[in-house]
Amino acid sequence: MTDVLEEKVIERDFFARSIEEQNDFLSQTWCNHCMEVDLGMRNPKEFETKDRVWIEGECLKCGQSTVTEIVEEDEE
Ligand SMILES: [Zn+2]
Repeated sequence: MTDVLEEKVIERDFFARSIEEQNDFLSQTWCNHCMEVDLGMRNPKEFETKDRVWIEGECLKCGQSTVTEIVEEDEE
C-alpha cells in the first residue's frame, strides 16, 4: 500500500472570513457547466493544501459544483 494522496487537504471555516469577503467569493464565480461568470454559489466549503486554497460550492443556476481558487495576499 502506498499513499495515493501526496497533499493533505484541510477543511477551513469559510464563515470565519469577513462578510465582505464571503459576499465577494459567493458572487464572483465561474461555472464550468453554465460557462458563465458570477452566477453565484451556495453551500460554500473552503479547503486548503500546502500550496493552494479554494472554495467549493454549488452554482445557483444549475446546482453543479463550482470551484473558486483563492489567491492569498500577504498581509504582513
Ligand atoms: Zn451553473
